[in-house]
Amino acid sequence: MIETTITPALLAAVRNGERILCLSHVKPDGDAVGSLLGMGWLLRSLGKAPVLALQDTVPDEGRGLPGVEEILTDASPDFERIVRQQAFDLIVCLDASSPDRMGTVYHPPVHESATLVVIDHHVTNTGFGALNWVDPSSVSTTQMVARLADALEVPLTGPLAECLLTGLVTDTLCFSTSNVTPRTLELAMRLMEGGANLALITQRTVNRRPYRLIKLWSLILPTVNLADGVIWASATPEMLAQTGMPTSEVGLSSYLVTADEADMSAVFIEQVNGDGSTRVECSFRAKPGFNVAEVAFALGGGGHPAAAGCTVEGDLATIPPRVVAALQAARRRQLAARHGTA
Ligand code: 5GP
Ligand code: MN
Repeated sequence: MIETTITPALLAAVRNGERILCLSHVKPDGDAVGSLLGMGWLLRSLGKAPVLALQDTVPDEGRGLPGVEEILTDASPDFERIVRQQAFDLIVCLDASSPDRMGTVYHPPVHESATLVVIDHHVTNTGFGALNWVDPSSVSTTQMVARLADALEVPLTGPLAECLLTGLVTDTLCFSTSNVTPRTLELAMRLMEGGANLALITQRTVNRRPYRLIKLWSLILPTVNLADGVIWASATPEMLAQTGMPTSEVGLSSYLVTADEADMSAVFIEQVNGDGSTRVECSFRAKPGFNVAEVAFALGGGGHPAAAGCTVEGDLATIPPRVVAALQAARRRQLAARHGTA
């Protein structure tokens, strides 16, 4: 069952947890790292010593956060022993909309006996935990962790405030998305009063990128196309290899959707599977009033109305035409519904 508010059962699970594992999604972003670390600081305030884990390494935007060095990843020597082979009584999964998003952190043979608590703000969440707190009206999972801290009377100060403001900033592109409300800004104000530095967090996240990413964009942008309100571009495995950028940090879809003529954007990244076949990772964005989550969900992925994604088996010759057609059809439906002609 999915709950949209904090339940007594969830509070009891957090209060009673002794051996606790906190995790977030593969290819973590600022909200994944911020909510994971924030949950860690919250639990430490309650006198607990949680293990924090991610499948993939922390992205650049999460690097300066307090406590980040304690996160165990697939590449850590202790990952198998401390994360995958250890039994826990409580597992808190943050910012992940479906079980596959937990990647290699969640190891059912050992972890199945734990109470799995899911805390997430994706509208596409499948409710895969024993307790599921899913609030799509929250702009970030860190906003939900702040609400949990309030409920448990943990003050929003110090490292906790810094981690929570980071997710707020990254998931709202610095308070500029259409889901930002006065409540969002009120929370940001409280976190700043608690010591979090907004200018520093912005500079560490949305206002910076490595030069090699700009080089990668220069390779991808020649492929850009626009038709029927959808703008898209494609990246080959060679482009990624040439610039050494991980796929999780390509980030170009937010830029493409700024085109005046586009209501939706898509970036397609081809990746080679272990068996030599290929898959295409798709990243979607929508202007306010349009919804790309439904297309992502229909293709086996998920996300938010304004930012979503999925991974489809196939290559750049076959997948982008299919997916662009699906986006164009969704856009036409959404325009028709808006004009009352659906
Ligand atoms: P991005 O385009 O920044 O990689 O992802 C945007 C949003 O879509 C994020 O909220 C992310 O959680 C979601 N998303 C991206 N790719 C996938 C995917 O393959 N599966 C699911 N379930 N969600 C995804
Ligand atoms: Mn998020």
